[in-house]
Amino acid sequence: MVLRAFAFLLIFNSVFSHGEEAVRIRSDFPGGNIKIVQNEGSTIRLEPDLRGDRPWFYWCLEAKALTPGKVTFIFPEKVAGHKNGAIGPQGPAISEDSGKTWEWMGADKVVENTFSFEFSKPGETIRLAVTIPYTTEDLDKFLSTQKGNPFLKVSNLTKSRNGREVELLTIGDRGESKEPVLVTARHHAAETMASFVVEGILEEAMDEESEAGEKFRERHVLFCVPITDKDGVEEGDQGKNRKPHDHNRDYTDEPIYPEVRAIQQLHTKERFVYALDVHCPTLVMADHQVMYFVGAKIHPPKNFEKVTAFAKEIKSRLPEGAPVGPLVWLRDEVKISPKNSRWFAFRNGMMMSATLEVPFAPKGRKADVESCRAYGRAILKAFVATPFEEIGPAQAAGSDN
Ligand SMILES: [Zn+2]
Repeated sequence: MVLRAFAFLLIFNSVFSHGEEAVRIRSDFPGGNIKIVQNEGSTIRLEPDLRGDRPWFYWCLEAKALTPGKVTFIFPEKVAGHKNGAIGPQGPAISEDSGKTWEWMGADKVVENTFSFEFSKPGETIRLAVTIPYTTEDLDKFLSTQKGNPFLKVSNLTKSRNGREVELLTIGDRGESKEPVLVTARHHAAETMASFVVEGILEEAMDEESEAGEKFRERHVLFCVPITDKDGVEEGDQGKNRKPHDHNRDYTDEPIYPEVRAIQQLHTKERFVYALDVHCPTLVMADHQVMYFVGAKIHPPKNFEKVTAFAKEIKSRLPEGAPVGPLVWLRDEVKISPKNSRWFAFRNGMMMSATLEVPFAPKGRKADVESCRAYGRAILKAFVATPFEEIGPAQAAGSDN
């Protein structure tokens, strides 16, 4: 009798008190990332999957309802050193069409380190992520909208460590007198919002109707590596602070990543005059809810003044609702850090080199895909309007190091 009661208790325990999962979670798709800590009943405990790297905040999952009802997603109270650090100021991003379109859920859906979703029927599937994801599929979608554009050329920069083709986009003709401009993004895999801004830059540069685009193409040719850490982006890695160092700490004489080596070799061939590396900062830090430039202050000569003028032109063109900025936080070098913008700052013939940080989703500001593209278009227009040469010379010969 006692035994039978015990057996019943065991069964009761496994079926009812722990509860079966109400939703199935997966992340086996491009950009997917999640560590399931506990999935029982209508409560799911989750963490960003660090895969052996340092604490960071990127996650991206698919949830499929097995039973209808409200499900609560719980992240750790502290992520990457910050309170509620895995959920941004506009809440998580949500897609109800398998990742085709996304929106921010809104801060009102978030309670501390948790948020909920009401599934209306079994089989209902949503994607949730810390940011609006951007993988090669999104790049391909963007490129397909530009099919037939006479100024755009798509080629391969190199192959990633895991054998993926890394895209190199070129806009305009490489005439003798043209000054080549390099735009890079996703040195840090998780920084997805930077990619939508880059789409805007590209769009404006190749726009047949745009006056700024035409002016740009008269003087420049644009080279763009839209997804630098190709494997990290596709595999859904954090990317930032990857061990032993990440892609944006790899600009040494002996780079360990094929993408960085290929970018350096491209410079040897093309001799870039301008380099802009687009990033996103941290997710929740108060200081990081603005757009800002970082980089070397006096390399190339008057870089600070040039970036300040560029920032002013951008600011005057940003649409209503854009994040505050861009602020100019270029600094004197204290410690040499082998970043992309630093490496280019010291190349011969450089006129300007900087990193632009675009916030993920600042509170009360527009951070949807279309708005970010509009910021990118404003950046290209501002670039054309900035009198870089009048402010200072290019980096003189003999100062490569
Ligand atoms: Zn970054």
